[in-house]
Amino acid sequence: MINQNKYDVIVIGGGPAGIMAAGQAALRGKKVLLLEKMERLGRKLRITGKGRCNLTNDTTIDDFIYHFGKNGRFLKPALYSFFVNDLRELLAQNGIATIVERGNRIFPECESAPLVTEALIRWLEKTGSKIKTGSAVSRLNIIDRKIVGVESLQSNGKEYFPTDAVILATGGKSYPRTGSTGDGYKLALEAGHKIINIRPALIPLETTGNTARQLQGLSLKNVSASLWKDGKKQAEEFGEMLFAHFGLTGPIILTLSGQAVDALDQKSIVEISIDLKPALDYQKLDARLLRDFGEHSKQQFQTILKSLLPSSLIPICIDLTEIPSEKIVSDITSKERQTLRNWLKDLQFNIIGYRPIEEAIITAGGIDVKEIQSKTMESRLVSGLFFAGEVIDIDADTGGYNLQAAFSTGFLAGISANKNI
Ligand SMILES: Cc1cc2nc3c(=O)[nH]c(=O)nc-3n(C[C@H](O)[C@H](O)[C@H](O)COP(=O)(O)OP(=O)(O)OC[C@H]3O[C@@H](n4cnc5c(N)ncnc54)[C@H](O)[C@@H]3O)c2cc1C
Repeated sequence: MINQNKYDVIVIGGGPAGIMAAGQAALRGKKVLLLEKMERLGRKLRITGKGRCNLTNDTTIDDFIYHFGKNGRFLKPALYSFFVNDLRELLAQNGIATIVERGNRIFPECESAPLVTEALIRWLEKTGSKIKTGSAVSRLNIIDRKIVGVESLQSNGKEYFPTDAVILATGGKSYPRTGSTGDGYKLALEAGHKIINIRPALIPLETTGNTARQLQGLSLKNVSASLWKDGKKQAEEFGEMLFAHFGLTGPIILTLSGQAVDALDQKSIVEISIDLKPALDYQKLDARLLRDFGEHSKQQFQTILKSLLPSSLIPICIDLTEIPSEKIVSDITSKERQTLRNWLKDLQFNIIGYRPIEEAIITAGGIDVKEIQSKTMESRLVSGLFFAGEVIDIDADTGGYNLQAAFSTGFLAGISANKNI
């Protein structure tokens, strides 16, 4: 069936990038249709930030670029066109006040990702953009390197929509139940675009041995984790982490995970070392142990550990340092004290893998930025085809950077598609 209404702009995908793109194009007077394959828009946005939605980060454009690593510079024009205060203002105008929290992370004051999503949908409807849910785009129609229409599948069969501009904002490949199943990579590939190796980023890591499993559920705050590749330290993060039945997770592990995934894919030996006492260097920790041992010389080793460690770590410490649990503190040798000190500063885990991409917060890889004009988000290969959001080969660590990138690239694609027509 051919849709008789010709739309100026068709946006594929109703996540943050697609909502922003459609709204901006419609605000500039264009006839816009947003096609979303799920029954509701913004399924992933609704679960962001553990349901609280870490919208963006109160920092500079340079810092954003740094957090996106090697493709960070590609985002510069998008960030300049629509940045943190623009997003906060748009949300405020639509009833969502925002606050800055620890680490400059910006959240909605209502602490509700679903409320943010609903506010953005109401805004989108007000812009005059038409929304069609339950419509999965399956093909881009390109003639003479120019986009002329899209074909979508819905419950009543196939439908063809003629158009002059398409914005592809289908997201990544993780959390597929939210609708992000990687369709955009196939559509872009068929349009002739190169897709950089799709892999999980911000993903929990799997360890050998039983230690993580035994510590399952334990969360450690104010610790430091370092990533080692073939015996060389690559990166270090300070903050919170969590043990799971398969290995390690939590914010600092997720931040290190992108590099860990790349190293594992290169068949390198990957280790994570946890410093349980990062505020004390080796010398200061030794002095602290000497003092504690002196003050409690009659106690057993297992008792004195209570002042040093969470209770579930104590049996692990005893097991791995091989210091007998009932040994009286005054009998602990200086070599044993050194072993304990080294263990506290360097609790090692061999990393043997990572969880499946379905569990990743972000997909690394995607449409090659070299084939997209950073000033407009338009394809260098197909005229009238634009990209926005996670479908592009951009990914950052946690902190609100990824959502801001989706909104900024969505904004730029929306206004550029408008100019193009
Ligand atoms: C659990 C979790 C928590 C997160 N928390 C945060 C956070 O707090 N802060 C942060 O910055 N980032 C966070 N992220 C990352 C952030 O959610 C994504 O980077 C962001 O949603 C990407 O936006 P997008 O619009 O590009 O894609 P998506 O949000 O994935 O939206 C893509 C949309 O396209 C639709 N679609 C796909 N294929 C088709 C098709 N063929 N036809 C029509 N529609 C299609 C999908 O159904 C979906 O609605 C989190 C991610 C997860 C998984």
